Amino acid sequence: MSKNAHTLFETYLSNNESRYTTQKKAIATEIFESKDHFEVEDFIDNIRAKNKKFSRATVYRTIKQLLAARLLQKISSIDSKILYEHSTPQDHHAHVICNICGKIFEIEEASVKSIIDSECKKLGVIPQYLSLHVYGQCKDPATCKGKK
Ligand SMILES: [Zn+2]
Ligand SMILES: [Zn+2]
Repeated sequence: MSKNAHTLFETYLSNNESRYTTQKKAIATEIFESKDHFEVEDFIDNIRAKNKKFSRATVYRTIKQLLAARLLQKISSIDSKILYEHSTPQDHHAHVICNICGKIFEIEEASVKSIIDSECKKLGVIPQYLSLHVYGQCKDPATCKGKK
């Protein structure tokens, strides 16, 4: 999966006259290997804690390019936090976000995607990037239960 993602990213970059530099590759590797939804600032802190040579600008540019290459999903919480997650177009999925504690859930149910695919087909649209957000309140007893 990760190797495939690198190949897809390299192809995207070369099609867009950009080079897959060692730094970009290191940043992409960190992202491809992380299983979580992350905020850019936290990601930058983590990668810079390991190695100071990564500049904020390079990380931001790489994330922008990964997003354009459809190798990231962008998730927005209701309080305008932006989170990212590595995902290939085949694996793009819907998210359910708790408005109170910020917890993120994934909808992996394949029928959701097949409904979207068949609706797009009717519309004559080839789906390229899926971003579906549902906002609500979760049942986590520690953070959410009973709160309004
Ligand atoms: Zn996700
Ligand atoms: Zn919650």
